[in-house]
Amino acid sequence: MAELLVVGTLALDDVRTPFGEVTGALGGSATYFAYAASFFTKVRLVAVVGRDFPKEHLDLLEGRGVDLAGVQVADGRTFRWSGEYGYDLNEARTLDTQLGVLADFRAKLPERFHRTPYLFLANIDPEIQRDVLHRLERPRLVALDTMNYWIRGKREALDRVLAEVDVLLINEAEARMLADEPNLVKAARAIVGEGGKGPRRLVVKRGEYGALLASAHRFFFVPAFPLEAVFDPTGAGDTFAGGALGALARSDRVEEGAMREAIVYGSVMASFTVEDFSLNRLRRLTEEEIEARVRVFREMMQVGI
Ligand code: AMP
Repeated sequence: MAELLVVGTLALDDVRTPFGEVTGALGGSATYFAYAASFFTKVRLVAVVGRDFPKEHLDLLEGRGVDLAGVQVADGRTFRWSGEYGYDLNEARTLDTQLGVLADFRAKLPERFHRTPYLFLANIDPEIQRDVLHRLERPRLVALDTMNYWIRGKREALDRVLAEVDVLLINEAEARMLADEPNLVKAARAIVGEGGKGPRRLVVKRGEYGALLASAHRFFFVPAFPLEAVFDPTGAGDTFAGGALGALARSDRVEEGAMREAIVYGSVMASFTVEDFSLNRLRRLTEEEIEARVRVFREMMQVGI
């Protein structure tokens, strides 16, 4: 089992879906990621919150064994995101983003974090992602997530950090936007192919349609777990990444077979998050439930020819 470091947002979210709403709920890319990954390996967290961030949220992560030595509490307000979903739960509409203390965040990296074999640059300002990457000893595997907010707002900084990562995990709309290409297969090739953006592997999260793992010459598709009730998709992408990177770090292998298995774990973890608001479903989750859904996935993916 190898350590896994994540830098990303700890947030307070206002979310509205056709099935209900929450205000000031625990969210953030690093929150979902760290919680999901904690089922698989030792997680180190680098982030900033404001003085308004409830201590119980940090206790929750600490209770999962997440090392919080890289979490700063700064004067000001915690990062806030508000978004809504229509009946098509695959795409969030951002209503408001307030950076708060994130606006002038300089990551704090305790000495013991400097050598961490697996690094996840969760959705956050790409300049912060690059800064953290450069201040670590080169990890065995670096993965990155981002979103439309940064693709539009910080394109050059994003391209710079992308050139240095191994795996990019994004959703379908973001893959198209990043590659300026509507066809997903061509978009994937433009990202991971020769003369692409840098990563050797691309994972495209496709909501209720599953996920795709692409490298220069290969594609691998996994379905989504067939859920009858999806309540709130917020955090599905980060939870997917937490499950995937957590599984990779646990096996400490990064070749194609390990990547494929990781994608299945990512899909399984995401399938739990969407069953309730915020981290509510993950908080009730057991290892037996995870393994039971992994078995269903194995069965679902048998072709039998
Ligand atoms: P996802 O897994 O893509 O649904 O991510 C949802 C989480 O991302 C929410 O809990 C938000 O707090 C967080 N988030 C939203 N916008 C941003 C942003 N621009 N940068 C970093 N995190 C964000």
